[in-house]
Amino acid sequence: MSPSIATNIAELNQRIHRAKEKFSRTGEKISLMAVSKTRPAQAIREAYAAGICDIGENYLQEAIEKIQQLNELPLTWHFIGPIQSNKTSTISEHFHWVHSIDRLKIAQRLNNQRPESLDPLNICIQVNIDDEASKSGVSPEALPELAEDIASLPRLKLRGLMAIPQASDNIEAQRASFARLHEAFLLLQRRHPQLDTLSMGMSKDMEAAIAEGSTILRIGTDIFGARNSA
Ligand SMILES: *Cc1c(COP(=O)(O)O)cnc(C)c1O
Repeated sequence: MSPSIATNIAELNQRIHRAKEKFSRTGEKISLMAVSKTRPAQAIREAYAAGICDIGENYLQEAIEKIQQLNELPLTWHFIGPIQSNKTSTISEHFHWVHSIDRLKIAQRLNNQRPESLDPLNICIQVNIDDEASKSGVSPEALPELAEDIASLPRLKLRGLMAIPQASDNIEAQRASFARLHEAFLLLQRRHPQLDTLSMGMSKDMEAAIAEGSTILRIGTDIFGARNSA
């Protein structure tokens, strides 16, 4: 039998604790988001029972079903996948955070469609930190202007940056990518002092992300087990 979700989360909390000690970040808050794409609502219930409140989803339709099935739980829902413009209204109505903004047009639509009854939608800008042709994300060069434009939208709250670095098993290479994101974040923070979120670190590069200043980890596999490749 595969280990339970609760066991996986307990082990992850240990890993996070050890990495915080190793990289001198004890006492700082690092949130753990459970990335539940392809997983049923019941798996999220188990994660919640083990102390997780932040849930990340990539695919809108399956996310909405789970949000509705779990609406009695006080969960914070994060949209972390690519966004087509015809999906913005549903996202703006159901999520608390969006981490995958890389175009002004999408941000403007989310701003215009965010219901008045809800708090402003929290936003992280996704940065293509390793300049990969295949990856979403704004280039580091175009980031300041996009951030400036998004910060002026009243129904959005710009919180920080997100990146998915080039895959590597080498912790030094992983750290170099995350360090570049952290540097871009610090530069932006001079102009936008409210920024407080560095969304970086997945199952295979979590320690490197903690070393380089992550404030929220996005973990799927190491909580829920391997996904069937879609
Ligand atoms: C799937 C996904 C994750 C989680 O990845 P794991 O390797 O399963 O931990 C994190 N962030 C994003 C954007 C994802 O799409």
